[in-house]
Amino acid sequence: MKILVLNSGSSSQKASLYDFTDPLPPSPTAALWDGQVEWQGDRVVLQTRNSTGAILNQATTLGPRPEATVRLLDALTRGQARVLSSLSELDVVGHRIVNGGQELTQPTAITREVKTAIRSMSPLAPLHNRAELDGIEIIEKRMGDVLQVAVFDTGFHSGLPEAAAVYPGPYEWLRQGIRRYGFHGINHQYCAERAAQLLAKDPAALKLVTCHLGNGCSLAAIQGGRSVDTTMGFTPLEGLMMGTRSGSVDPGILTYLLRQGHTGQDLDEILNAKSGLLGISGLSADMRMVVSAMQEGNARAKLAFEVFIHRLRSGIAAMAATLSGMDALVFTAGIGENSAEVRAAACSNFAFLGLAIDPAKNLTSGSDRDIATTHSAIRVLVIHAQEDWAIARECWKLSLAAKAATQKHYNEP
Ligand code: AMP
Repeated sequence: MKILVLNSGSSSQKASLYDFTDPLPPSPTAALWDGQVEWQGDRVVLQTRNSTGAILNQATTLGPRPEATVRLLDALTRGQARVLSSLSELDVVGHRIVNGGQELTQPTAITREVKTAIRSMSPLAPLHNRAELDGIEIIEKRMGDVLQVAVFDTGFHSGLPEAAAVYPGPYEWLRQGIRRYGFHGINHQYCAERAAQLLAKDPAALKLVTCHLGNGCSLAAIQGGRSVDTTMGFTPLEGLMMGTRSGSVDPGILTYLLRQGHTGQDLDEILNAKSGLLGISGLSADMRMVVSAMQEGNARAKLAFEVFIHRLRSGIAAMAATLSGMDALVFTAGIGENSAEVRAAACSNFAFLGLAIDPAKNLTSGSDRDIATTHSAIRVLVIHAQEDWAIARECWKLSLAAKAATQKHYNEP
């Protein structure tokens, strides 16, 4: 079954193609093809790659996102890295939808009603939900009634206990939908399943803290396979310090800046694009650059790293307190998987809980692994984020369920 996954980021549009055969292997398989369009200031870069290693790399002047998405789809059937002779070979198209709110929590086949519900959540995730709807409509235009599936980044956190989900503002906020939704749920959920697999434990018996540390950063406290707390909230701005996002700051700073004459739009721009590692270091949003500048003696890079680690440690401790224990700490996404410095610094303050990482194992790279010492009271896992594969797997399940339902209908007397 050929499944295309579309994943819209704030400054990128990614796509991956999987070919699943029955039975599905328990751990992820590589994509047959993947591609991405990235907006880098005035430049737009289109990159695609197929499983034989053929690469198409173009810096172009692609227009806005819908045009770029069409070009990305064209690259599936044309050019050096093509893998299909026609888009009609696709069986299902899956979409990562950033915010499905309280209504849309489970992976679902996309209908007119589902699109309306996604649209109604757009004010809460304007950059994402609208881009995702564009993607859905482009596929409708090109492929008619192919099965399209929405998988929600908020879904995994939709069962947060009220104490974790409700903001201590006026109760009226809750009625207005102002509550903590949490994000990165597709990857937090995948990591929880993969951790149970690596530890050979029943997920129902595990208390996990998963650290998704990429351009965006969030933690989740997972008990018995369910998210019981997370650091992102109403928007993906709450919580940890990130590449260009501030994470949580005193809301009094915002009212102060408004009184100083800043507009809401200014604050959006400051908090989302001019803060975090970039804002403090003044150099880069990329942890590699920050660590390397810090090692060369740059004081602001060192400060950025230290603030990042301080907030990460506090967040991990808060998640562990909610869980009242922690069997494993999981690092995932670009920083979590690749930065031995961040993992070592984050873990160093948890020796009092009996957590110890093996410095040699921490320096290894490659497949999913346990980097704790044999005596550590808490396992420390590094797990490669597999968001698109996890979305494709949900598409696979829904598609099989739809086929079984059709079969049953025809077989009924
Ligand atoms: P993601 O959003 O998961 O793609 O993560 C992207 C981020 O991962 C980049 O902006 C970098 O900050 C970080 N990253 C990627 N590779 C490394 C590395 N080798 N060391 C430290 N950080 C890295």
